[in-house]
Amino acid sequence: GSPTQWSLAEALTEMEPGAAGTMLYPSGVAAISCSLLAVLNPGDEILLTDSSYDPSRSFADAFLKRMGITARYYDPMIGADITGLFGPKTKAVLMESPGSLTFEIQDVPAICKAARAASIVTLLDNTWATSRFFPALEHGVDIAITAATKYIVGHSDVMMGAVTTHSSYWTRLRRTAQQLGQVVSPDDAYLAGRGLRTLDVRLRQHEASALKVAHWLKGRPEVGRVFHPALPDCPGHEIWKRDFKGSSGLFSFELSDGDDKSRAAFIDALSLFGIGYSWGGFESLALPVDPGKFRSATEWIDKGPLVRLNIGLEDPEDLIADLAKGFEHYHSAQP
Ligand SMILES: *Cc1c(COP(=O)(O)O)cnc(C)c1O
Repeated sequence: GSPTQWSLAEALTEMEPGAAGTMLYPSGVAAISCSLLAVLNPGDEILLTDSSYDPSRSFADAFLKRMGITARYYDPMIGADITGLFGPKTKAVLMESPGSLTFEIQDVPAICKAARAASIVTLLDNTWATSRFFPALEHGVDIAITAATKYIVGHSDVMMGAVTTHSSYWTRLRRTAQQLGQVVSPDDAYLAGRGLRTLDVRLRQHEASALKVAHWLKGRPEVGRVFHPALPDCPGHEIWKRDFKGSSGLFSFELSDGDDKSRAAFIDALSLFGIGYSWGGFESLALPVDPGKFRSATEWIDKGPLVRLNIGLEDPEDLIADLAKGFEHYHSAQP
């Protein structure tokens, strides 16, 4: 470490009231896998939300399984009923709210309360909201994980992960990161620290622009459900209103009468939206997503193909005009 990494870690710790410290990792995926390795032992069981980020699922199903750790999945809308899934081997719950691709908002405080009563550690992938819109530790989470690659860095030029926790898990988290040789370079830490200085204004702009685009999409005849936590179509919308201080720039929507071909025509016609798996930067992105492939505890009923949008910092009116052009191409390609 050096003062550059420490100052970034300290700033992230200060943003999570109740935190003892923050560890930095070279990617969000590294932050997730290293926090799980810090709290799990062979023979343990972990519960993960069925709406998990796909690489989290694959780490649990492949790597953790080899270590003799079993993974079970739960319905993201389970709330306090998660108690019914706890067994003698259950040691951790990995939440993500909103869920990747489908954006269900979970009752994080209820899940954490149930887990704490059973001495089970709770981890939350808080990448979408960041501590700015959802201070995780205040809501009962033990270990808050952020892919800083997204909103903290904010300019799509550095990959980084950050994990913030309170005193009970801090030593274990820190030791595991050191044992696994997890470090970030001072140059990357410098850029992430600079990104952090504008996090608040960027998030507020992402929020306003994404809401504008989401409401416009909701009024389009081609669009079915819009999965944006601030809109009532989104499962858990009421919980979002209760717990969150804002909404960010990533959401998805359904093309009601489309198929894979017309969805591709829609996305290919966009000129301001790139195609990208990562997100959270200044640049808008569109991605075809098929959440049904990554479910095991719940069924995802597609009423039409889904598109995930990252709303960047462009003028939202320009983005809307671009999407309107996309719909023209969508109609010509429709079955
Ligand atoms: C992108 C992402 C990650 C992983 O971040 P990387 O820095 O790309 O490894 C983790 N969780 C969620 C929800 C993400 O969207």
